[in-house]
Amino acid sequence: MADNNEKHGFSTRAVHSGEFDHENTHSLTTPIFQTSTYKFKNTAEVNSFFAGDTTRVAEYGRYGNPTQMAAEEKLRSLENAEAALLFSSGMAAVTTAILALCKQGDHVVITSDSYRRTRQFILGFMPKFGLEFSVVEPDAATIENSVKDNTKLIISEAPTNPYLRVLDLAALVSVAKKHKVKTLIDSTLATPINLRPLEYGVDLVTHSATKYFGGHNDLLAGVLMGKESLINAIQDLQGMLGPITDPNTSYLIIRGLKTLSLRVERQNKTALAVARFLETHPKVEKTWYPGIESHPDYEVAKKQMTGFGGVVSFQVKGDLEVASKMIDNMKIPLIAPSLGGVESLIEQPSLMSYYELSSAEREAIGIFDNLIRFSIGVEDEEDIIQDLRQALDSI
Ligand code: PLP
Repeated sequence: MADNNEKHGFSTRAVHSGEFDHENTHSLTTPIFQTSTYKFKNTAEVNSFFAGDTTRVAEYGRYGNPTQMAAEEKLRSLENAEAALLFSSGMAAVTTAILALCKQGDHVVITSDSYRRTRQFILGFMPKFGLEFSVVEPDAATIENSVKDNTKLIISEAPTNPYLRVLDLAALVSVAKKHKVKTLIDSTLATPINLRPLEYGVDLVTHSATKYFGGHNDLLAGVLMGKESLINAIQDLQGMLGPITDPNTSYLIIRGLKTLSLRVERQNKTALAVARFLETHPKVEKTWYPGIESHPDYEVAKKQMTGFGGVVSFQVKGDLEVASKMIDNMKIPLIAPSLGGVESLIEQPSLMSYYELSSAEREAIGIFDNLIRFSIGVEDEEDIIQDLRQALDSI
């Protein structure tokens, strides 16, 4: 392995950690090991591998790949984790973790404003295997009130999506430890550049690597990070279920991570400028960004995060059609789900993630028709703000 100095800063580790030394080929970058299986010299080598010889990567591709392991080592280093495990998507990571940690009769607390599919898995799928759940506001005291004798796991996002709520992780961990409950935090929107939940004592962190880690809107992957013993147990289940990352995607993650801090620092800066512009605009009813004083979790965010991320949500003054018109008149962002890539993306949650609900049903879960989610890319700040200005003027 190349330089894995944990004392180095994020950008240095993002570039150098996890890279293999390829003494035979002198390749500067970690190659894509396009193989599904691994050969043994003889049966004695088979025997010693299964007896615990750790000099080999794996015996079969579902249990590991050198390119994947290089990407995992980079991620592990950035998140300050003991271990990292890649998956085929963010949802594969979350669902495998829940399946590995919970059993029939357990109770899970999940915060509202969590990713729609994670909520659906807990609320709509797991109850058929006897899992109980509570959905509560992302606030440690409210979470504590919902903890029961059979509570096994608390799941939240930091920040949440689309309202960018920021849970106080120190308070959450003290509740979880008091009640001996495990914590799983989806930190996709923060990235380790802005927040590292494991440093607060959270048990497991997950990211949709599809977003900032890949960073170019060209791959799907997920990752779980935490204590080695926990990750090993989850890896065992992954070996049965099979949602692994392929070597090409692993390579793209390695490449994406090398520029993570450059991209995220730019996105933090532009998003803050965008939020400040929107919150004073007469056509905007409300702006949701944890880096501005009007956000309900501004104080927690300021204490806990080193940057506030690249997603800004806002409500225009008007109804569903007015919000749609504003989006249609934007010239730079592309209309698409997802976030965290170099291209700015814009979406109206009512029409995208929550399309199957009626207006009233959406409002009941806090998704307003005039809500717009804007994932800031790396385009010029002035161009983005000018584009927002002309689109708002048009409504
Ligand atoms: N977590 C968050 C916060 C997300 O926004 C998403 C996807 O949008 C996911 C998890 C799921 O990730 P993936 O699409 O990689 O499965």
